[in-house]
Amino acid sequence: MAAPDRYAVIGHPISHSKSPIIHALFAEQTGENMRYEALDISPAELEEQLHACLTDGFSGLNVTVPHKENVIPLLDRLTERAELAGAVNTITRATDGTLEGDNTDGLGLIADLRDNLHIELIDASILILGAGGATRGIVPLLMEQQPAELMIANRTVEKAEALATTFAHLGNLTARGFEQLEDRNFHVIINATSAGLDGNIPPFPASLISPDTICYDLSYSMHGTPFVSWAKENGCKQAYQGWGMLIEQAAESFNIWRNIRPDTEYVRKRLPG
Ligand code: NDP
Repeated sequence: MAAPDRYAVIGHPISHSKSPIIHALFAEQTGENMRYEALDISPAELEEQLHACLTDGFSGLNVTVPHKENVIPLLDRLTERAELAGAVNTITRATDGTLEGDNTDGLGLIADLRDNLHIELIDASILILGAGGATRGIVPLLMEQQPAELMIANRTVEKAEALATTFAHLGNLTARGFEQLEDRNFHVIINATSAGLDGNIPPFPASLISPDTICYDLSYSMHGTPFVSWAKENGCKQAYQGWGMLIEQAAESFNIWRNIRPDTEYVRKRLPG
C-alpha cells in the first residue's frame, strides 16, 4: 500500500486539540489512506515551519489559535469566504505546490445549527457575543440564512461596530457593547468569545434569555462550559456546546482535501457534547 497522505493541525498550544481524533475517525469511516497529527508551532516559528511542513510531505493543514490571521500573508491565494472572513482554518497544497487558504468555520456552524440541531434561523433574531476571528467567519453564513436581525456585541465595542460596517450590505446588522444589552432578548444567542476558557464569562444580562431562547457556545469542553451553565441557569430553552461545529468544520476540511464528505454522525456519537 502507498504511504499515507499527511495532514496536521497547527496551533500554539495544541496538545488539547481533538482534530487528530476526528480526522482519524473520518479516515476510518471513509477508508482514505491518510495520517493526521497535531504540530505545536509558536508564532515566532510560523513562517519557517509552515513552509517546512508543506514542502516536507504534508498535503494540507488545519490552522487554529493563534495563527488563523497570521498565516494569510504566507499563502498564495484565498478562497472568497476566507478573504471575507479575514481568517484561515484550512490550507491545501495544490499539485503545483501553491498554497490556498480556506475557512470552513461558517459552514461548520450552519451545518450544526440547521441540519443537526434543527434550529430555525430564518426570521430569527440572533445575537453573537464576541467579534474576533470566529465571528468574522460565521457572520456571512448566518446572514445567508435570512435572519430578521443579527446583533454583534463585544467587550471592545469598536470591533463589533467595524464588523457590522464590513458586513452591512448583507442585511439587518447592528453592534453594541455588553453593557448595552439590558433591554433585549433573542431567539438564538451564540457565544463566540474566548472568555470562558479561564472558567468565567462576562456578566451578560440574564434578560437576554427568554424561555424560547436557544444558546450555542462555540467553545467546548469535556466538563461543560461556563456559557452553557449560565444559559441553563437563566432558563433558556436549549443550550449546546460547540462540539458539533468542531466536527462539521473538520468534515468540510476533509472534503476539500479528499473530495469526500464523511458522515459526521459517526464521529458525533463517539465524542461528548
Ligand atoms: P479571537 O481571539 O479572535 O476573539 C476572541 C473574542 O473573545 C473577542 O471578541 C474578545 O473580545 C472576546 N474576549 C476574550 N476574552 C474576553 C473576556 N474576558 N471578556 C469578554 N470578552 C472576551 O478568538 P476566535 O474568534 O478565533 O475564537 C473565539 C472562540 O470560539 C474560542 O473559544 C474558540 O476556541 C472558539 N471556536 C470554536 C470553533 C468550533 O469549531 N467549535 C471554531 C472557531 C472558534 P475583545 O475584542 O474585546 O478582545
